[in-house]
Amino acid sequence: MALVQSEGIVLKTYALGDTSRIVVVYTRDLGMVKMVAKGARKLPSRFGATLEPLSRSRFHFYHRSDRELHLLSKTDPLAAAGLKLADLARLAHAQAALELLDRLLWGDEPHPELYDLLAASLEATIAAPIAQLPAITGAFQLQVAGLLGYRPRLDACANCGGALSPERLFSAARGGLMCASCATSEPGVTRLSADALAGLSLLLSKPVAEAGKYVELRRAGEILRVVEQFLRHHFQRFQGLRSLEVLRSLDEAGTSARPAPGAAAAPKPGEADPIARDALGASDGGPGSRLKPGNEPGSRRKPRGFRDAAHLR
Ligand SMILES: [Zn+2]
Repeated sequence: MALVQSEGIVLKTYALGDTSRIVVVYTRDLGMVKMVAKGARKLPSRFGATLEPLSRSRFHFYHRSDRELHLLSKTDPLAAAGLKLADLARLAHAQAALELLDRLLWGDEPHPELYDLLAASLEATIAAPIAQLPAITGAFQLQVAGLLGYRPRLDACANCGGALSPERLFSAARGGLMCASCATSEPGVTRLSADALAGLSLLLSKPVAEAGKYVELRRAGEILRVVEQFLRHHFQRFQGLRSLEVLRSLDEAGTSARPAPGAAAAPKPGEADPIARDALGASDGGPGSRLKPGNEPGSRRKPRGFRDAAHLR
C-alpha cells in the first residue's frame, strides 16, 4: 500500500456509514479513483469543501492496486469550482462535463490530456459569458470523443473516404460527413448548415475556453444536437446528459437566469450539493456500482475498446 498523490476533480460522492464518505475522483495521474474519506461527514470536516463535486484538489491517498476503494489521507484545495458557479446555467454546464466523463470512463487508466481538458472546460464554464456556455460544452464533448478515439471525420466521407457531398451530409452512425453516394443508402443523415459545419470543425480544434468566440449561440444548439446524436451512436452508455436536460427544462420555463439555490453560499461541510447529486445521479449508484451496464468487460462497447473504432480515424 503506497501513499500516492495526484491532482483530481471530484465527480460525485456517496455517504458511507454514519460518518464517512466515498468520493469518486477523476485524477490526472491515476484516472478514475474511488476513495474512502473517513470522518468526512463529521462537522467540521477535516477535508473542508474539497470533496464537493466540481472541486479540484491535490489528493493524497493510500493506493492498493488490488482494491477498488482507496483510503484518502488528505486533500490540498486547488479550486473550489462549485462555489463559484453562482447560477444554474453555469452549474448545469459544469455538471454536464462531469456527467459525460462519469458515463464514458471507467477503471483507473490515466489520461492526463483528458484531465486537462476537463479542468480547462470547468475553468471556462466559470469565466465565460453565459451565452458562450453551449459552445464550450459542445467543444468539450467533441474533444472528449476525439481523445477517446472517436473524432468525427469532417475531411472526407466517413464511410468510403471519398469526396464529400457539397450538401454537408452528416451521419452520426458513420461518424462524420458523407459523400453523396454513401448518404443515399444511409438512414438518419443530417444536413448541416455551413455555419454549423464550420463550428464543428473549430470546436474540435480550438481550446475549449475560446469556443464561444468561434461559435454563435444560435448555432450552438444545432451543433449540440449533432454532437449528442454522435455520442449516442458511439458510446453505449451515453443516453443524453441529465444536467443539460435540467437546463433545457428550466430554459423552457424561463428560469435559468435565476441564481442557483444555495450556490453562492458555503455548502454544508461534507455534504454534496443536492443539485449536483441529483443531476449527476449520485444517489442512484453506490459503492458497489463501479461496473455499470455497458461498461462491464466484454460488453459491446467499453471505453477501453475505443481502439477498435478504426473507421473513425
Ligand atoms: Zn462515401
